[in-house]
Amino acid sequence: MKKTALFPGSFDPFTKGHKDIVLRGLNMFDKVIVALGINTKKSSRYFEAELIIKKIRETFREYGDRVEVITYSELTADLAKKHEATVILRGLRNTTDFEYENSIAQVNKYLNQELETVFLITSPEYAHISSTIIREVHFYKGDISEFIPYSLN
Ligand code: ADP
Repeated sequence: MKKTALFPGSFDPFTKGHKDIVLRGLNMFDKVIVALGINTKKSSRYFEAELIIKKIRETFREYGDRVEVITYSELTADLAKKHEATVILRGLRNTTDFEYENSIAQVNKYLNQELETVFLITSPEYAHISSTIIREVHFYKGDISEFIPYSLN
């Protein structure tokens, strides 16, 4: 049976760290669905969702239908069920990520018992990359090209 993993996130913006997680996910699963959550709490994004979706699609074009990119605004556990994904893929950089990821994983398991969350420890070269810092650098007109796997121009 085909194994599909869902990689949910805000991706505001999608970074080289995120790309690394998708590529490593493709080594384990037949398909990775990158799902950009249009979040209720973080309602206002910095980078437009449509732009980021387009850039993520371009980034993984060579993988054809093994990488799908979608937006969503529902429970991740429900989304996984809908797309027949049995795994949620997440990245872990540090203990702060762990605290947060631990509670989301518990809730997702409660909501959908068939779902397992698989955590990938960030590759050291990308461990310092965070969407929050990239937004800050971009806001003050700094160069963010080193942190993202596509060009924004
Ligand atoms: P969310 O708002 O859901 O935390 P993010 O877009 O910030 O979404 O992150 C999505 C996932 O990618 C999370 O599991 C996060 O820990 C992981 N991640 C973020 N930055 C990196 C990185 N540099 N390396 C590996 N994983 C990362």
